[in-house]
Amino acid sequence: MILTPPNDEHFMRQALREAHGAYQEGEVPIGCVIVKDGKVLGRGRNHMETLRDPTAHAEILAMGAASSAVENWRLDGCTLYATLEPCPMCAGAILNGRISRVVYGSKDKRLGALGSAYDILNGNPLNREIEVVGGVLGEECLDLIRAFFQDLRKRSKSRETEEQLPEALLGDLPEN
Ligand SMILES: [Zn+2]
Repeated sequence: MILTPPNDEHFMRQALREAHGAYQEGEVPIGCVIVKDGKVLGRGRNHMETLRDPTAHAEILAMGAASSAVENWRLDGCTLYATLEPCPMCAGAILNGRISRVVYGSKDKRLGALGSAYDILNGNPLNREIEVVGGVLGEECLDLIRAFFQDLRKRSKSRETEEQLPEALLGDLPEN
């Protein structure tokens, strides 16, 4: 049995707080914090709808905030906590930003780029060693996303919305 270091859960709770904030703003609830030496340098929540920006993922916004805070795009020694396994775009940004460690909550079978759908970090061409820990508070992170889409489904029966639902992500779960 692998034990999760207690501070991983602590910082994942902070990422979850961002995800809850996104939910309240009508965004798919995904949150992220960037931590170095036990200190949160940047926070982000999914803001694609609010900003009308396909790159406004929680991880990208958190990395931007952390880079601004340290006035440096190099985030060596930082750990990125994300409630959902990062997508290929965010995995690319993790590489570019020199993040040292990634901790995520729920796996994303549809778009997860840390081993679920793709494996962007492992054997990356930049030869960066990035430690990855998955499944920290994973159930809680996934429950929040599932609740969001169940809400959405209830509110709108439109075909367009149905098509946008991440069936592959939800399909992995027990029947509702
Ligand atoms: Zn992403």
